[in-house]
Formats: sequence, structure tokens, C-alpha cells
Amino acid sequence: MFQSHVDLYSRLRQSDNPSLFPEITFPELTFDDGHISNLELAAPILHSRNLTATFFITVGWTGSKPGFMGWPDLQSLNRAGHTIGAHGWTHTLLTHCSDLQLQTELGRARLTLEDKLGAAITSMSLPGGRSNRRVLAACQAAGYTHVYTSIPKSEPLPLPTTIGRLNILGDMQPGWIASLFEPNSPLLSSLGRKYRIKAAAQSLLGDRLYAKIWALANRHESEPEPEPDPDPTQESE
Ligand SMILES: [Zn+2]
Repeated sequence: MFQSHVDLYSRLRQSDNPSLFPEITFPELTFDDGHISNLELAAPILHSRNLTATFFITVGWTGSKPGFMGWPDLQSLNRAGHTIGAHGWTHTLLTHCSDLQLQTELGRARLTLEDKLGAAITSMSLPGGRSNRRVLAACQAAGYTHVYTSIPKSEPLPLPTTIGRLNILGDMQPGWIASLFEPNSPLLSSLGRKYRIKAAAQSLLGDRLYAKIWALANRHESEPEPEPDPDPTQESE
């Protein structure tokens, strides 16, 4: 299924889909968390289609958490032409962090990646997709020029530096994904509406209560779980 998804991205890149960010190839492919399957399964398929992606790394897990990539793995992805970005230090939701914690999650994460990879790190994705004005300002202060959200939108978001993303799951048919890229896609609008309802529920209930209710409501659904995250408030569903 991933091979057929990648074939679709390859076709989309060859069409003249305009990007709002001229420095970014559209559609850009991104992976969050730094799971070892990114290197072992996804990278060879991307390579076979001559595509590159951005891998957002939970820096504190690198080389220490079983099942996640180590520094040599990230160096080899970087050498192969892929971009590395940050995804926090501990994967804590940034909206729950004190200013001091944000310095670790954002600043220490970026500088450590730069030291270990010898490359400029300028992008990050928000753990759990959570942000607010304070978090976005801290991202900018920590040196990130592009912040990737979980908002299913391709137009500019709260700040011109924030970028929307679509969460693609293994059971999504390529035809369904392709329809998201059609001009004025009704499917994309409907995902946007669902996102806004979910975001409103989260802010009304708080993250922890929301996560409990979400888990109860989805107990019997067969929707695949995202890669194991330490926090119950998964970023993708
Ligand atoms: Zn994550």
C-alpha cells in the first residue's frame, strides 16, 4: 500500500500543483517520531522512486529508545538526501510545557540534531499537533523557520511559518488520497471541519479528558493505531 501511495505522490509532484512555499516540493512527505521502520521500510521504497522526505525526530529517544532510530541511522538518511527536522525532546505536548521545558523540547532538540548531523535544522513538527501562540513564539525564538502542524489545510495557518499536513494511514486507498489534492476538494474541506470540531473538543475538555473519551468512543473501531507514543493523546486518528 505504501508503494502505491508513493507512486501517487510521484505523479502529483510531476503535475503542476502550486506550492505556497516555493522552497518546498509539493506534496512534501513527512514522517514523525523517528521509528526504525522509517529507515528499514519507507526509505528503500522512497529511494526506488527517487523521492525524498522529511523525518521529524524525537531527539531524546535517538539511540536510547528501542524500536527508534539511532544517530548512524539519521546520518545515513541525511546523506541520502532526506531532510531531518525536530519533533521535541521527549514528545511531551508542548502546550503542557513550562518556558524552561520548552527550551529543552525546542532549543536543545535543534542544537543536538545540528551537532550530531552537521546540518542546519530549521523545521519541526508539533508532538500531538498541539500548539498555541506561546508555543509558536517559542518555536520561532528557538530558530525554527517552518513548523508543521496536524491541521488538514494547505493554506497559511496562524503564522506564515506554520504548515498544514494530512495524516495518511495504511488503509487509505490511493484514489481517496488523490481526491484530497483536487482543486477545492470537498473531502479536504470535510477533514478540515472534523479537525476544527476535534480541536474545539480538546480545548473545551482538556487533553487528558479528551483522550479518555476518544479511547472509549473508538474502542471497537478497527482504525489502525499510530506508532506507539508515550502520551495517550495521539496525534493522528
Ligand atoms: Zn509524534
